[in-house]
Amino acid sequence: MKYLGFLFTLLIFYTTAFAQVDTLAVQADSVAVDSTIEAYSDSLYLNIVIPETDTVMYPYSRYRIAGNTNPRATVVVNGNLLKVYESGAFVDMISHTADTTQIHFMTALNGDSLSKTMYLIRPEPPKPISLKGKTITDRFEKPGSNRWFKTGEKLEVQFLGTPGQKVVFNIDGFKRNIPMHEVPVSIAGVEGLYRGVYLVRPSDFVKDKHITFKMKKNFFSYKKKKSTYTVSFNGLPRVGRVNSDDAYLNIGMGTDRLGGAKYGDLEEGVLLNITGLKNDNYKVQLSRSLSAWIPTRFVDLESEYSSPVESLTGNIRISGEDKLDRITLNLSEKLPYISYTDVEPNVIIVDVFGATSNTNWKIKHRSSHGIKDVTWSQVEDGRFRIEIELSHSQNWGYHVGYGWGSQLNIEVRRPPVVTNMNNPLEGRTISVDAGHGGDNNGALGADGTLEKNVTLQITKKLEELLLEKGANVILPRTDDSYVYMSERKEITLENEADLLVSIHANSIGYISDPREIKGTGAFYKHMAFRPLAEIMYKNMMDLGFDDYGLTGSFNFSLNAPIEFPNVLVETAFISNPEEEMLLMDPDFQQKIAEQIVKGLEEFYLKHGYLESVSDMPEK
Ligand SMILES: [Zn+2]
Repeated sequence: MKYLGFLFTLLIFYTTAFAQVDTLAVQADSVAVDSTIEAYSDSLYLNIVIPETDTVMYPYSRYRIAGNTNPRATVVVNGNLLKVYESGAFVDMISHTADTTQIHFMTALNGDSLSKTMYLIRPEPPKPISLKGKTITDRFEKPGSNRWFKTGEKLEVQFLGTPGQKVVFNIDGFKRNIPMHEVPVSIAGVEGLYRGVYLVRPSDFVKDKHITFKMKKNFFSYKKKKSTYTVSFNGLPRVGRVNSDDAYLNIGMGTDRLGGAKYGDLEEGVLLNITGLKNDNYKVQLSRSLSAWIPTRFVDLESEYSSPVESLTGNIRISGEDKLDRITLNLSEKLPYISYTDVEPNVIIVDVFGATSNTNWKIKHRSSHGIKDVTWSQVEDGRFRIEIELSHSQNWGYHVGYGWGSQLNIEVRRPPVVTNMNNPLEGRTISVDAGHGGDNNGALGADGTLEKNVTLQITKKLEELLLEKGANVILPRTDDSYVYMSERKEITLENEADLLVSIHANSIGYISDPREIKGTGAFYKHMAFRPLAEIMYKNMMDLGFDDYGLTGSFNFSLNAPIEFPNVLVETAFISNPEEEMLLMDPDFQQKIAEQIVKGLEEFYLKHGYLESVSDMPEK
């Protein structure tokens, strides 16, 4: 019961978030029996939030720690006395320059003390596999990552082995004994790294061959190792068909925690000219000078004898319906496309690849009053560009895809109708996304606050305010469960929301000092949606936050949709103990929600379609 009394006390002072990070909690013996403030203030505890486990593999020289204790207690970490914030949070940076760094946490209050030791370990560099004295290993390609090359491209191979040897590689059944060279340690950062190159020639036809690395002792004696992947030269391009509406084109093969940079989505059925294969991605030749990559799982290859995908363009028709305008272009194949947006002028640019202009006229119907004009040009071989200028001040979303057959459809949403100038949100539908959820906690605050809880709390407050204004509110996440990003987008689309605001709390990585980095920020990906991010950012800054900045081209999955304006609001830094206290405070959460509502009102007043002047506010 003593123990339960202690927990109960804590739960009064901390949100439910607390209970979920206290797995590392060390309870003192002298805990309070009742649940009064005095009893609580005398109890000593030590919760360590970062590191999250007793032992952490960590390669860098600086590591941030975070935790919490009784706000009246003192905290010493590795001999340094730390500041304990009003919430009980403490943070610090640890220097990690040895193979193992010990982090010793100690907290004390009224003669009681608690301590805990954790460890940072530097990962060892990978060791080559030993083969009877000589070593040879190939750790640069994951198994099954077959690669395709065409004339003029370079096959580059490398492996790690015993330094100072004579080594060659074979392309099995095609070329033997291509020399390899040891890369100087100063460049490779490791001894025994060998590299070899083969330049693919027009006459080279190779299909699914392995590479064999050979380390020669003499003519009769050598060690060898076969690659797990295969290579193919020429016999390309192939044609592939997109097999899923979840498919997208990547710009390169880069990755980060948000995934690689993307050109955009592709619809099922689109045909692609494929000229390469590497690390489970096909290389797609879009036009003479532009290529992209697509994960192989999104593509079914057509027969080897299919001719490259191309089409002449037909004429352009521009028409309007109730809530949208439509631009159609006839093609003979479903060609890939990439779209871009800009502001001032407010345009949508759609490049269609493999298309050659045979467009002789455009028909514009009177019904298409959301479109000012449509122009086209052949910007290069195999790249046909349609430029759509909108007649309204804000792009409210659009969709590129195929209608019946291979008719390219670009559907452009009209601005929502504002019927009440005094309350522009009345009758509007707004999607508010609470970041993270369920197993995905998001960022962690030193006091144990979980980002997923803060985002849901702010979202609920925002919902209440918006309902009071007479808006319809769509919440892709309503409780502590994880909702997939694609589902959050789907829910927003299904409910025909005008726009989406995604609520998050920011955090720095392990390498930065949490005391130094704080403030509010807004993020967008597409230029067309920058005005929404600007307005949100400005209204959040009015709360007196530091200026973390407005970030564009941001590769967050809910910034990717082009179908509705969207913004990611990184309210404040949960990794900063002062801002964590603000984020935990229900009154401050309310203020954040109010600023977002103000921002939305401003956005609708500026960019919504004002139905009637009779609703103008009287002055
Ligand atoms: Zn987040």
